[in-house]
Amino acid sequence: MTEQRRVLRTEIPGPRSRELQARKTAAVASGVGTTLPVYIERASGGIAVDADGNQLIDFGSGIAVTSVGNSAPRVVEAVHKQVEDFTHTCFMITPYEEYVAVAERLNELTPGSHEKRSALFNSGAEAVENAVKIARHHTGRQAIVAFDHAYHGRTNLTMALTAKNMPYKHRFGPFAGEIHRVPMAYPYRWPGGPDVCADQAYAAFTQSVETQVGVDNVAAVIVEPIQGEGGFIVPAPGFLKRVADWCAERDVLLIADEIQTGFCRTGDWFASTHEGIVPDLITTAKGIAGGLPLAAVTGRVEIMDSVHVGGLGGTYGGNPIACAAALAAIETMRADDLCAAAQRIEATMRPRLEALAAKYEAIGDVRGRGAMLAVEFAERGSAQAAAMAAACHKAGLIVLTAGTFGNVLRFLPPLVIGADLLTEGLDILDAAAGEVL
Ligand code: PLP
Repeated sequence: MTEQRRVLRTEIPGPRSRELQARKTAAVASGVGTTLPVYIERASGGIAVDADGNQLIDFGSGIAVTSVGNSAPRVVEAVHKQVEDFTHTCFMITPYEEYVAVAERLNELTPGSHEKRSALFNSGAEAVENAVKIARHHTGRQAIVAFDHAYHGRTNLTMALTAKNMPYKHRFGPFAGEIHRVPMAYPYRWPGGPDVCADQAYAAFTQSVETQVGVDNVAAVIVEPIQGEGGFIVPAPGFLKRVADWCAERDVLLIADEIQTGFCRTGDWFASTHEGIVPDLITTAKGIAGGLPLAAVTGRVEIMDSVHVGGLGGTYGGNPIACAAALAAIETMRADDLCAAAQRIEATMRPRLEALAAKYEAIGDVRGRGAMLAVEFAERGSAQAAAMAAACHKAGLIVLTAGTFGNVLRFLPPLVIGADLLTEGLDILDAAAGEVL
C-alpha cells in the first residue's frame, strides 16, 4: 500500500506530468478534458502518486468510484484470480457464476424487501438507458419525467435527461424525445425560500405532469436522491416521498438513479433510504466495483421480467473481471462497515465546512450526506469554486467542482481515507479559502 502521506516533490503539475499533458494534447481529442493534469502512477487509500513522485490527497475518488480505495486489497486479489481463470465469454452466450452473484447481492442490498431482478451493463449512462427501456416496455407508455439540475449521462438518451447545456449537451442535439422536465426542490435556490420549497416544488411537479404531459402517458419519473453533477442538491425534506407516493398511486414507475449516491457513499447503502422511498427501478454504477467498469439496473421482478428474452444485454455487460471486483468491493463495504465510515467522514467534515461558511460570506450553503458533501458559493457562475479548486490542487489536494452554475466545490473522499489525511485535506481547504476568498 502506498504510504498514506501527502508529499510534494515538484510544483503541481510537475515536469513529467506536463510532458505527458503535451502528449495528451497531441494525441487525445480535446473534448475529453482533464480537471487536474497530474498523471497518476499508483494510488491506494486516500493517496494518489503522480509521475513526478508527488503524493496527493484524494477528495474525489475518481468521481465517487473508488469508495473502497484504489487497488483495494480484496479487489486486487479477486481481479488477479479472475484474470487467470478467464477474462470474457459474454454472459449472453455462455454464462458464469460471478454475474449471477452480483445480481443476487444487488437484489438483497437495494431498498425494499420485494422480489427483484438485476441486469448488468458497463457504464452509468448505459444503465440509465436500460432503465428507461424497461420502464417504457413494461408500462407501454413513453414519457419520462426528469428534474432540473439532473445529470444522467452523455449518451443521446441520457443527454436528453441531463439538464445542463454546457458542456454536456451544447450542439449535440437533436435529443431523444418524450423527456419532460420539472423543477427540483432545491432549498438553497428556491425563490420563496427553503420553508416553502417542498410544497411548491411538489405542486409544480404535479401540475406540470398532469396538465402538460398527461399522467396516462408517463412511464417513469427518474431522480437522483441527491443530485450529483447538479451540485449535491439534497431535495427539500419530504419532497421525494411525496413524488414517490404520487407515482405509486398512478402506476408511474419511480427510477432512482443512485449511480453517484449508491454503495455507502451517503452513509447508507443507498440514499433512497434516507428519503424513505422504495424505487421501482434503481440504477447503480461507479462505487459498485472498486474502479472497474460495471453498472446495473435492479427492480421489481414483474417490471424487469416483462422484457422479452434478448431485449436486454450487450457484449461486455457484467464482464467477469468487473463482477469479481464488484463482489470483492461489496464484501469490503460490508466487512469494514463503510456506511459507518461515510458517517464518520461527515462528522469530521461538516463542522469544518460550516465553520468556513460562517467565516466567508461568499459561501452560501453547505450540504450533502455522508462522504458526499459540498459548499455552494452564493454568487451564481462565480469563479470562486474554480479558484478554490485550483489552490487546493496546487497544494496537493484533489477536489472537484460541480453545479448548474459552476459554483459548487464538492468532496467525495474514498470511504477508507485515514483520519489524519482527512484533517490535512480540510486544513488545505482552509488555507485555500484564506488565499482566495
Ligand atoms: N447518473 C448519475 C447520477 C451520475 O452521477 C453519472 C456520472 O457521473 C451518470 C449517471 C453517468 O454515469 P457514467 O459516466 O458511468 O456513464
